[in-house]
Amino acid sequence: MQATEEAIRSVVQEVLSQLNNKGGYGSASATTQTDGDWGVFRSVDQAVAAATAGQKQLLNATLADRAKALEIVRQICTSQADELGRMEMEETKIGRLDHKIEKLHLIKGIPGMEFMRTEAVSGDYGIGITEYAPFGVIGAITPVTHSLPTLACNFINMVASGNTLVVNPHPGGAKVACEGVRRFNKAIYQATGLQNLVTIVETPTLETADQIFNHRGVPLLCVTGGPGVARAALAAKKRAIVAGPGNPPVVVDETADIENAAQSIIAGAAYDNNLLCIGEKEVFAVESIFNELMSAMGRHGGYQLNDQQVTQLTALAFSPPTEPGGHAVLNRDLVGKDAAVLAGLIGVNVPPGTQLLYGETDTMNPFVPEEQMMPFVPFVRCRNADHGIELAKEFEHGFRHTSMIHSRNIETITKMGRIMDTTLFVQNGPCGAALGNGGEGYASFSIATPTGEGVTNPMTFTRFRRSTTVGHLRVI
Ligand code: NAD
Repeated sequence: MQATEEAIRSVVQEVLSQLNNKGGYGSASATTQTDGDWGVFRSVDQAVAAATAGQKQLLNATLADRAKALEIVRQICTSQADELGRMEMEETKIGRLDHKIEKLHLIKGIPGMEFMRTEAVSGDYGIGITEYAPFGVIGAITPVTHSLPTLACNFINMVASGNTLVVNPHPGGAKVACEGVRRFNKAIYQATGLQNLVTIVETPTLETADQIFNHRGVPLLCVTGGPGVARAALAAKKRAIVAGPGNPPVVVDETADIENAAQSIIAGAAYDNNLLCIGEKEVFAVESIFNELMSAMGRHGGYQLNDQQVTQLTALAFSPPTEPGGHAVLNRDLVGKDAAVLAGLIGVNVPPGTQLLYGETDTMNPFVPEEQMMPFVPFVRCRNADHGIELAKEFEHGFRHTSMIHSRNIETITKMGRIMDTTLFVQNGPCGAALGNGGEGYASFSIATPTGEGVTNPMTFTRFRRSTTVGHLRVI
């Protein structure tokens, strides 16, 4: 009976979807579709209702089908990385095309069902089994800096543990996120019959985010974004896993391998034009190697601005605080632009291949305290390693997100690790090493910092459940 009903529902959905899905990305039909076009909905209520039905279906499906769904998302992100990366670049107009594409390729390494575990105890009273169960429908808020990669990464983590998700994407990256959702759901449906494992709000606003925050059908939130949304999620009336902002400092001491330090700072800070929340945002280098480090930066794709040029760029990148003691206001038009574009704005022509601008500043320059998300990194001269660590602590602002050190002094490294207390702490490599890119460990696009879950994985999105059998089933 059940199978027949499901089969009929599937056929109806298929026909409706085909009717509504004649055009491709950006076509008239893609923007004027009816609700439910392969998971893209106009209203939060309908998106949650569909994801709720999708989750029921997922729980009744085989684990083999669940694995197939994850594999499809990985496969689409890999085989369509060029096209989807280009779409994301064209829509958001921030970052670098090569890295937009590379970030989609990283999705194949995101942890899935292999991270799930079951624990058992066996004793005089029988046995107990601990299983990690889904929450249901998870409300996910995604950033413009990595719109589709964050959605795909959240999908793999959340669906691996038996959840579905309803997404409120950043308005600036919503089209590519919706297109990803359509492609994922369509291919998954065709391969497994599973529907709406992810749903998305077609035209996201702060109101739709708020509706998801307060929806009775959404028991858990996962929010990836800056200070505003992190604060809103922390104030929500339900549990939120919050992947908040960072301002990662780098300390370079006199024992460091200077060439490696320069190469690492460029690799991390220039990645996607410094959009990564883990990216190197300011450097505190000790006096004795300061000049040597500045020259080394120039050998690895950096271009040094002089004092006057730094002042000019600062004036374009930030406006003064609107209230005494407040934050300088970031000019979002410069976020994620190429180094050559930033240089051009102050009349500087940089050589081809320049990835990052850098220059000496003091700590009063807003590039030091603010999360600039553009390829200019300020370098501050320090008396010694302790002074560098002290400044790193101050300008990380207690986000407890990410910090880096280049040093061969194990005592200095240990001291910084203890003082910074950050979720990610990288020694002698670029920031990406902490997420498995040239270092050990797995990757995620949501690093839960204020709420402490860290690099999210399928177990992050589970509830503890214990099943106890009294007096039986200990078979030894
Ligand atoms: P953003 O804060 O402008 O937007 C993030 C998301 O939150 C968007 O979907 C936006 O529409 C929504 N939003 C913003 N204010 C909101 C509010 N008051 N209520 C509900 N929703 C709201 O950030 P962005 O520019 O898209 O992304 C960059 C920021 O995200 C940086 O601060 C970066 O450090 C952070 N980030 C953190 C991680 C992490 O894993 N910790 C990953 C990526 C980005």
